[in-house]
Amino acid sequence: MMDESVVRFPVRCPMCGRESLVGSSLDTILMTLATDRPIKLYSKCAHHRVAWVASDLERSQIRDYTAAVYLPPADRLRLPAVTHLYWSVA
Ligand SMILES: [Zn+2]
Repeated sequence: MMDESVVRFPVRCPMCGRESLVGSSLDTILMTLATDRPIKLYSKCAHHRVAWVASDLERSQIRDYTAAVYLPPADRLRLPAVTHLYWSVA
């Protein structure tokens, strides 16, 4: 079963376009959503290990995904609209 305290999110490898799942603890995500930090993404596809800073589109996708899946409606409203999330892979 999935651990609900860990958020997993598909990212697309910039080298080959394959999707892989990255994850971070929900606590870490919520803390970084509330601060002004860049989102660092890592690909874990079979062929590449690439790290990059998330684009604006990727940031908004992560925010929306996290809010939709992991937060009750009242908490979604408190997330900042523009987020800079530091995304680390366990
Ligand atoms: Zn790749």
